[in-house]
Amino acid sequence: MNAYRLEQEEMIKGWITKKETAGATLDELSGTVVVCGNELVRLVPGANGQLEVSAERFTEVVVLSRRERFEDPKSCLVCGMEHEHAKAATECCAEVE
Ligand SMILES: [Zn+2]
Repeated sequence: MNAYRLEQEEMIKGWITKKETAGATLDELSGTVVVCGNELVRLVPGANGQLEVSAERFTEVVVLSRRERFEDPKSCLVCGMEHEHAKAATECCAEVE
């Protein structure tokens, strides 16, 4: 397992922990598709009752999104959560590196 993969797994685990802390259930998180760089992974329920990461490799991943989403400074570009101020939106997921 190379360093990039490890870092990616850490990022995904951090995201899952954050969502679980916020009260998301296994059911809600199952099936979530995560785009990490050029890799796309799917969160699937594992045998031990925890989410597992199922990697699906593509040569290229293109994310198309409506332009106005990116021009709205009040929603976090990482998780999409809306905030009262642009500053809060920028800092929302800043600790997830
Ligand atoms: Zn966020």
